[in-house]
Amino acid sequence: MADIDLKEIAKQHLEIDSFFTGDFGILGPELDFRSLRAEITPQPETKTSDPAAISEFLDDVSAAASLEQIASMVNQCRKCELGSSRLNPVPGEGSPNARLVFVGEAPGQDEDKTGRPFVGRAGKMLTNIITAMGLSRNDVFICNTIKCRPPENRDPLIGEKNACRPFLDRQLELISPDVIVALGSHAARELLGTDEGIGKLRGRFHDYTPSPGAKTIKVMPTYHPSYLLRAYTVDNRRRVWDDMLKVVKELGLELPKKER
Ligand code: URA
Repeated sequence: MADIDLKEIAKQHLEIDSFFTGDFGILGPELDFRSLRAEITPQPETKTSDPAAISEFLDDVSAAASLEQIASMVNQCRKCELGSSRLNPVPGEGSPNARLVFVGEAPGQDEDKTGRPFVGRAGKMLTNIITAMGLSRNDVFICNTIKCRPPENRDPLIGEKNACRPFLDRQLELISPDVIVALGSHAARELLGTDEGIGKLRGRFHDYTPSPGAKTIKVMPTYHPSYLLRAYTVDNRRRVWDDMLKVVKELGLELPKKER
């Protein structure tokens, strides 16, 4: 039997813990029950426009030459009702040359107020994870499957996801990262076109191609930071950290040396 190095195991525990602590050691009252609601919320389609308008929209989005252009199209978008209920659109932010993109589910209240992705409690958790990987938010690109906040943080409707999907695909095609981290089951299912749960999908790379003929990009699904906040266990933190270590390795990055 291989020697078990208890000191090494203890050190790894401490490292995982310190990577994920920050402000998040104690669960507060602001829990996000969005994914729990998913099981009970009916998913009606939102209304769609006529085929000619859809085809023109698709052509325009796939002709967008920059992330700024997509952001401005998102700003004008009224393809679904969220375009009228939002305070601000949240197209995404970060480096246009990022080798790593994080895709979440949908903007929440803080994101709706600021127009920036992942700036609330889940955002702080995500920033901690990015920092632990030896990167900063400016090195990566962060966005969501849909660009406007659903009222009361309900799950995005199928019609909303379909209406917004061309923006996401074009963003990912333009950035052409080496790896996408899909945060939570909504992002993973949307990118991978599957109904599989996050527990089954996480921990290994999958393939995603933004458009026919485009470069295939590796996708690592992992738990959503909001889920980690709700279920802040050593096991869950270890799972997310293991997933991120695979991403770090795939990108050939070096972890920062930790000062003790
Ligand atoms: N949750 C998400 O999925 N996206 C955000 O931008 C913030 C919270």
